[in-house]
Amino acid sequence: MARQDFRERLATGKPLVLDGAMGSELQRRGVWVSHGATKDKLGAWSATAMRDAPEVVREVHEDYFKAGADIATTNSFWTNSVKLGLVGLGDKAAEYTRLAGRLAVEARDRLRPGAYVAGGMAPPHGGRAPVDPIDLPREFAMQARALKEAGVDLLLVEYIGYVDDIVAAIEAVQPAGLPIMLGLRHITDEGDMQAGETFEQLVTALGPRKVDAILLMCSKPAAISAGLPRLRRAFAGPIGAYPNIGYTRASDPLDEGHQWHGLDTESYTPRHLAEDGRTWLAMGAQILGGCCATTPDHIAALRKVVPGAL
Ligand SMILES: [Zn+2]
Repeated sequence: MARQDFRERLATGKPLVLDGAMGSELQRRGVWVSHGATKDKLGAWSATAMRDAPEVVREVHEDYFKAGADIATTNSFWTNSVKLGLVGLGDKAAEYTRLAGRLAVEARDRLRPGAYVAGGMAPPHGGRAPVDPIDLPREFAMQARALKEAGVDLLLVEYIGYVDDIVAAIEAVQPAGLPIMLGLRHITDEGDMQAGETFEQLVTALGPRKVDAILLMCSKPAAISAGLPRLRRAFAGPIGAYPNIGYTRASDPLDEGHQWHGLDTESYTPRHLAEDGRTWLAMGAQILGGCCATTPDHIAALRKVVPGAL
């Protein structure tokens, strides 16, 4: 089946299934993702998998497509020169970003040619002033170019939470000329943005800068349930969500015995994600997937309640 233009597909209003976690899934499959980490900071996270285990990254993409994902996110979350620079690989940023794009595109072409690939990227310092205002626009522009060269269908600016960062990020990636989805992180239990800013303030600040969809991500499922109706009121375009189900700030990234999978994923099963997915569809969500600690089984369960597989 020929792949429909992504914006045209969104405009149909039909729902789409986004894939699940990459970093925690690599970790679950035995890939060490804590190079450059300190006791309380993540280091380069999944970026070094482009050097250490690209074949595992490929397998994860394949497994999510087999589970029914309509959109894969490339493993380029932190393949920027800041994070890779922590482990002496700063000059590999563009190369690893392109490779991340190609692995997802190849898996898609082979398994689900009607599906989409989103080129993902996150703020190199997690939104920390005064460094991110300097590094974020440069790194995002580089990643957007590299991902476009790799053939992705759209960009996913994610794990971002402050309005100033978001505006800078959208301006940095817009020249690539691809559709843009925005993934807002760490939604509070009350359903607000992490620093007390409102969705209305975000939409106002974005002004004429075009964002094709806004999703709530890397937040507890309950926070997403609280936030989606607020986002719906503030933003008229397509919305969605991909919760994390196992990440806590208390995680020690250097604890080799510690599996993110072992946190609260025992109590939040694929069936729970499917049940929440139904609720979120009813709240107006069009794009649903999973963040930290979700697995292909979660996406397969979600697929069963989201109609219209590509
Ligand atoms: Zn996450």
